[in-house]
Amino acid sequence: MRLDSLPDRNHRQDFTDVRLAKTGKRRTILRKLEPRVFQRYDLFLANLTTLELLPKRFWSKITREALIHCYNVDTIPSAALLDELERATRAEPYRCPYCLMRQPKSWDHFLAKEDFPEYSTLAPNLVRACTTCNTAKLRTFTNTPRQVVNPYHDPIPASPLLWCDASIDGAGKLALVYYIYRDPDVPDQVLDLFERHFEAFKLEPDMTIEGASLVGTFVQEIVQEYTTPITAERLDAEIKRKLGGLSDYPTNSWEVATFEGLRDCAGLLEYVNSRIVARPIRPPRINRAALRAGLLAAKL
Ligand SMILES: [Zn+2]
Repeated sequence: MRLDSLPDRNHRQDFTDVRLAKTGKRRTILRKLEPRVFQRYDLFLANLTTLELLPKRFWSKITREALIHCYNVDTIPSAALLDELERATRAEPYRCPYCLMRQPKSWDHFLAKEDFPEYSTLAPNLVRACTTCNTAKLRTFTNTPRQVVNPYHDPIPASPLLWCDASIDGAGKLALVYYIYRDPDVPDQVLDLFERHFEAFKLEPDMTIEGASLVGTFVQEIVQEYTTPITAERLDAEIKRKLGGLSDYPTNSWEVATFEGLRDCAGLLEYVNSRIVARPIRPPRINRAALRAGLLAAKL
């Protein structure tokens, strides 16, 4: 859900470079197709935020194969294009823009290459994504209404839409719930798209698991740090310290949402303090060498 920057490329030249790297009959087919491909490129670039409305074009079996071949079989120009794209979108933390959780290790075609083979090597159609999201993102994800936020072209609201409600349940357990906040300052259609995206990629269950682990580690660190119960101000300072460490994280990062959620969590102070109080006091270290020496002396 992050807005990535795309390198400034000449897309027509990219296509020409790739087709010139092909050989034999395929090269001839691609040369003949080039004007039609360029028309389709113009259409794509003129409709960046409404790509789901783009009509499919009919391609014969042989032309479809040649177009998909441009992506499926590496050439020096296509490999260079992907390399540059990856470098341009690599930021810290390096995350898949669909889930913002996992490492991106594959290329997703925003408009599936099976339906739109002419865009198989068009840079703005290539999204570096994790394999889980890439596999989950079926071709229907970009049907109308679209279910996927386009990380390059959709306007992403400045304030985070991913929120986390943290609470302590009746059994004294911490519960985390992630959701898209219906910010009144954001248009409904943007909020609806974010909600569909959140649902389609099934992000909530994974965030709940990761969030529980993140909070567990955080509480453990506090329990190790303090020997007596802490104040609400001290706990808030600890949460703020964590948030400070995440200042470079993208908008809608689940880690930021988690710690923001903790700041409003009623009962968190008692939850943390009960663990500080219950922390087992470690017995003093036994000096085995001294003990053995003592026993030996006693025997003598
Ligand atoms: Zn992902």
